[in-house]
Amino acid sequence: MRAYQVALPALAALSTACGGTVPTAHEAALPASPSPAPSTAGRPLAGKIVVLDPGHNGGNAAHPKEINRQVDIITGRKACNTTGTVTAGGYQEHAFTWDVAGRLKPILEGMGAKVVLTRPNDKGVGPCVTERAAIGNEARADAVLSIHGDGAAPGEHGFHVIMPGLIPGHNDEVVKPSRRLGLAIRDAYRSGTGLPYSTYRGKDGLETRTDLGGLNLSKRPAVFIECGNMRNSGDAAKMSDPAFRERIATSLANGLKRYLT
Ligand code: ZN
Repeated sequence: MRAYQVALPALAALSTACGGTVPTAHEAALPASPSPAPSTAGRPLAGKIVVLDPGHNGGNAAHPKEINRQVDIITGRKACNTTGTVTAGGYQEHAFTWDVAGRLKPILEGMGAKVVLTRPNDKGVGPCVTERAAIGNEARADAVLSIHGDGAAPGEHGFHVIMPGLIPGHNDEVVKPSRRLGLAIRDAYRSGTGLPYSTYRGKDGLETRTDLGGLNLSKRPAVFIECGNMRNSGDAAKMSDPAFRERIATSLANGLKRYLT
């Protein structure tokens, strides 16, 4: 993980350097003529803002008091954050979500999107689910994706996407776009990773919930993905493989692109 954390800012800087719109001397010298709309070929997400929320954090386990603090998520009160699950081989969910977000970010930036992460590294504590939602709201995200790995019974496997259920007076405007986002992510993940729909939650890889602060408090289209069951040996083997996580990131990028364009 350490090497990856070091690589992230470098990638971000590279992408910023390539994303300038300053005209070259040659372009500036061209005679004025009816200019075509700026080409978005290769940069289909130009102007879009994506917030990636890698679930949990590496410092959570050592800070139970901060993490267990109860926060208001409209439909009840919940812990500020949790430690997440872990594979039988010791691969932590927080490391998985951080790694996938770190792979996904440069892909989206390469498509022209502005990408905001809800935490800056994998060594901190929190932030609380309330704060994570606020980051998406303040960024005026066009799409918010929370990345998780599940900790279900070892005999169960597969992935599912969680979409916000209606909480009247709170998230009326985002329920429908979030469902479209969820369908796009579900389809792209299914075809891109080859993982089956969850055998234990939801239907056809989709579930609607009103007990997740990150969804309840989002004023922007938002979904969670449980990328697989980390307690299942088959899913865990895939999720522990860097090459497979690259496939996960590519699939999620395709789903976001599908929704945003
Ligand atoms: Zn999780």
